[in-house]
Amino acid sequence: MKILICGGAGYVGSHMVRYVLDNGHDVVVYDNLSTGHRGSVPQGVPLVHGDIGDAGKLARVFAEHRFDAVMHFCARSLVGESVTDPYAYYENNVGNTISLLEAMRHASVDRIVFSSTAAVFGHPVSDTIDETHPTVPINPYGQSKLMIEQVLADAAKAYGLRSVALRYFNAAGASSCGSIGEAHDPETHLIPNVLKAVLGQGKGLKVFGTDYDTRDGTCVRDYVHVSDLASAHMLAIDYMARNEGAFTFNLGNGEGFSVREVIAAAEKVTGRPVPHEFAERRAGDPATLVASSQQARDELGWQPAMARMEDILASAWNWHLQPRF
Ligand code: UDP
Repeated sequence: MKILICGGAGYVGSHMVRYVLDNGHDVVVYDNLSTGHRGSVPQGVPLVHGDIGDAGKLARVFAEHRFDAVMHFCARSLVGESVTDPYAYYENNVGNTISLLEAMRHASVDRIVFSSTAAVFGHPVSDTIDETHPTVPINPYGQSKLMIEQVLADAAKAYGLRSVALRYFNAAGASSCGSIGEAHDPETHLIPNVLKAVLGQGKGLKVFGTDYDTRDGTCVRDYVHVSDLASAHMLAIDYMARNEGAFTFNLGNGEGFSVREVIAAAEKVTGRPVPHEFAERRAGDPATLVASSQQARDELGWQPAMARMEDILASAWNWHLQPRF
């Protein structure tokens, strides 16, 4: 197969590129390099430097290659920023995604895997969240992803588009080769910030909120390894070969870790203290997000291989210790 990976220079996308190559398929990366890194794309993989909002450039890429499917990782994905700059989120995550879907339709490419998020659920009403859980986003980021899930459902009926939206819980960890990992600038995610604090890098770790209704007052999240996310995407492509329509699956490990628990696990894995201070809550954060991924296991045949927090942290730590490109 030949797969167009939009956002393939980014964190999850660059792990996806390697996974697709390792499984013997061809890849073209399309990325505006706003948050991704040229150096994250393996040598020999075509990288088109472009924005998915650029209809002309997209049309040229679809004319040049015959793609079997698209994987779409391009998005703004910071909850707090989406609260303060919603236009940017709706323009990029909604408007530009529709431009990509239009280009696919024009080129008769009818399979897409879309990166969605646990943020579509808002404040959970159950301990674990399955696909039937109500979707009531509490920030523009989650809302923008939910809008596209709706667009995909409508496109299935109107144009016969096949799609799988994968709602990631908290993507984490790094490839075992140590050459790619989570490198945002500024970094807002917990695990890289914890490991940077261990190394004395960055501005110092702040724990956002200690008065949540959780076992220790800090937010609880379900961390899932990027390579496991990648395997789910490949299974989703196979799934669409067998099934017509628009599908959504939750991807997590079904176990929640509080911020304090992540810090304690990182101290164990690194053998070093994690200096941190306590701070106010961050806007837009729900107290707990933990997935039920039974449907992905049953329907896609998904089996996470790196489900243990220690393994996720160890892979990220290995990457943090490498020299940077
Ligand atoms: N968090 C924190 N300090 C940080 C980064 C994150 O306390 O430097 C908290 C954040 O408030 C949330 C959890 O860690 O409760 C996970 O945040 P992250 O940004 O990694 O992922 P999100 O759940 O927002 O997708």
